[in-house]
Amino acid sequence: MASDQKESKPRPSGKELQRHLNTPLECKICHKMLNRRRDGYYQCPSCNSLYRDNLMKAKEFLLNNPDASFEEICEGARISEENLTFFLDNEMISIPDTNKNFSTCKYCGRIIVAGRYCNNCALYTFNRLQKIITGEEDPEE
Ligand SMILES: [Zn+2]
Ligand SMILES: [Zn+2]
Repeated sequence: MASDQKESKPRPSGKELQRHLNTPLECKICHKMLNRRRDGYYQCPSCNSLYRDNLMKAKEFLLNNPDASFEEICEGARISEENLTFFLDNEMISIPDTNKNFSTCKYCGRIIVAGRYCNNCALYTFNRLQKIITGEEDPEE
């Protein structure tokens, strides 16, 4: 896993994170505010009902279906492809090594669905190549 990529990835904004997580806020039964537990579940302080955000749904589905494909996870966990892409891009979810439907970026090690490089690295490499070609940047090494 090469780590010579100097630009650090911008952290997702809270708003964006919230949109993808779709965090449950109150108990559907007693309408009490839910408490977030250490294990990632949301629990009602009154009736102890458990709720999950989209990330937990995906994690839970993967636990039971470690060989699931990208589409199967979205379908099984009932989250959107956009949600899952976001969780993968931000390294919020890990895929078991044995799962052949996913691979890792040859450059940064991030989990990707297909190909050799993640979108970030593909773009970064492309931009850098262009700069080298146009003489804006000297090739290293
Ligand atoms: Zn409740
Ligand atoms: Zn990458």
